[in-house]
Parts: sequence; structure tokens; C-alpha cells
Amino acid sequence: MPRPRHPMITALAGGVGAARLLRGLIEVVPPSCVTAIVNTGDDTVLHGLHISPDLDTVVYTLADAINPDTGWGLAGETWQVMASLERLGGVTWFSLGDQDLATHCYRTQRLHEGATLTAVTEELARSWGVEISIVPVTDDPLRTRLQLIDGPEIDFQEYFVKMHHDVAVADVRFEGAKHALPAPGVLDAIARAETIVVCPSNPVVSIGPLLAVPGVLEQLRLRREQIVGISPIIAGAALKGPAARLMREMGFESSVVGVAKWYASWVATLVIDESDAESAAAVEAEGVRCVVAPTVMSTVERSAALSQVVLDALG
Ligand code: GDP
Ligand code: CA
Repeated sequence: MPRPRHPMITALAGGVGAARLLRGLIEVVPPSCVTAIVNTGDDTVLHGLHISPDLDTVVYTLADAINPDTGWGLAGETWQVMASLERLGGVTWFSLGDQDLATHCYRTQRLHEGATLTAVTEELARSWGVEISIVPVTDDPLRTRLQLIDGPEIDFQEYFVKMHHDVAVADVRFEGAKHALPAPGVLDAIARAETIVVCPSNPVVSIGPLLAVPGVLEQLRLRREQIVGISPIIAGAALKGPAARLMREMGFESSVVGVAKWYASWVATLVIDESDAESAAAVEAEGVRCVVAPTVMSTVERSAALSQVVLDALG
């Protein structure tokens, strides 16, 4: 008799919040059933190296190699290269640990050899023993650019790391998106999944770039009933980072209702934190089913419990 097949699950992912959810998800379903479509709008080139922060955060977290204090980079990292760069007066505002640098060297070399980002990501994931399928949303260049109110248009990492996202943004665009093709398997993973989960990631700069790749939003709209989002906004604020501020700057309320409005055309169900329980009716008034649950993933157990809530949300 054939073994019962577990339903396929596809996740839309940014960095830390997504990685934590995925780490819990593989506690409750076999990893081979999971595909994560990951943001590459944060990618940048520094020291001539191609850096993909969200892909690396997802891989390192699933490998249990992530630095638990920061949520990015490797645990037990050393910083000798950074210290030497500092002495040279080189670029040091973006911290790259010694072991982490090997990832970027490897990726850059493989891309120079003509490998796609999809292929390189698969190689890196395999090297870490990660069994879920991790795919960049596109193999083509996609760069999140932020137009400042009192200043120039800048790159995502300049905004996020160099300026500590402490600056007013007038507009966000995704350079290259119009001509980008979804990476192989991306549309198929959306078309075939029994459940599609929108991880608790920044709606503007982590989920936004995924939706900007032609074909992705159209495919998601066809699967709306199967899509469950998790609000990255809890009690009106982001746990970390500029999600709440950017939502307000883009004209949305920074609340679970704002998230519901932002996602309503393609997401049928939204999981909100228990601290937002009183907003459930307002979320449903946006045409989105609402599930209330603990959503702060401070441990793998909590991440696993939240993953189970997502799977149960579709009955
Ligand atoms: P990145 O890690 O900088 O790439 O940012 P993400 O795209 O992952 O987005 C960070 C968002 O995820 C912030 O709005 C956080 O509030 C949210 N987030 C991070 N961890 C959690 C969590 O445990 N639960 C929930 N609900 N949201 C989270
Ligand atoms: Ca990110």
C-alpha cells in the first residue's frame, strides 16, 4: 500500500520571522513537503560578494546554526576579517562574520561560473543538511529601493543597516521586478500546495518583492482560499524592524486590520496574535477569516504550535 502522502505546503518568506516559522513547521510535517519562496529584494553586493540575507537566514535557522541572539548570522562567529577591514578603512557598516563570508564567497564564485541563484541556494541548503526546498523568488536581479522623504533613493541594506531604518520613506520600488521571471518551481509550488502560508515577514519590503515578480500575485489570487497569513504586526507594532513604520508610510494602519487590508485580495485567512483578539471582528470586516493564537515564536515549541494553528486553519 502506498504510504499516505503529506500535503504540500508552500511558504512565502522574508528573513527572521519566516525562518522561525519554518523551523517550527518542520517539527510538525516532513521537511520534504515544504517549499519556501524567499525574498531576494534585500540582496546586495559588498566587497564584490553577492549577499542574500534572507536566503541565508532561512538556511542557517533550519540548520540550527543561526546566531540565536541576533536572528541573523552564524552562532559562535568570529570577526577577524571585519577587524582587518576596519584597520584598512574598508566598508564595515555591514557585518559579515568569518564563517558567514565563506557562504558569500561560494555563492559569488558559483554565480560567476554561470550557476543560477536557485542552484546555488540548493547547494548551500544541502551542505547544511536542510531538507526543505528553499527557492529564491527569482534568479534575476531584484533590488528593493527606498525613496527617502528628505534624501535620495537608496538600497535596502543602506536603509536597514547603515541608517538603522530611522529615516522617513516616501516610496518603495522593486528594481528589476518588471523583467524578472519567477524562479523555476515558484509558480508550480503555489499552484500545487494544499496550504500556502504567508510567514510573519515585513509586508512592504519582504512580501512586497515576491508579489512584484510578474505572475506570482496572479497565481496567488487563484489560490486565495488556501492561503493563510500570519500577522507580523502585534499590538500595533513590529517585534523588530521597520514593518509598522513602513506600513504607515505606505498609507496603511500599522495594526492587524492594516495587515488584513494589505493582504485581503489574495489571502483568505489571517492569524493574529492573542493580544489583538479584540480586533478579530475588524479583521473579518475586511473579508478575511480571522484566527487568534499566540504568535510570538520565542522557542521552537512555540513556532511548532503556531505552524499547527496554520495547518488547522484550513480544516
Ligand atoms: P527580516 O528578518 O529583517 O528580513 O524581516 P522579516 O521580513 O522577517 O520581517 C520582520 C517582521 O517579522 C517584523 O515585522 C516582526 O514583527 C515579524 N516577526 C519576527 N518574529 C516574529 C514572531 O515570532 N511572530 C510574529 N507574529 N512576527 C514576527
Ligand atoms: Ca530581510
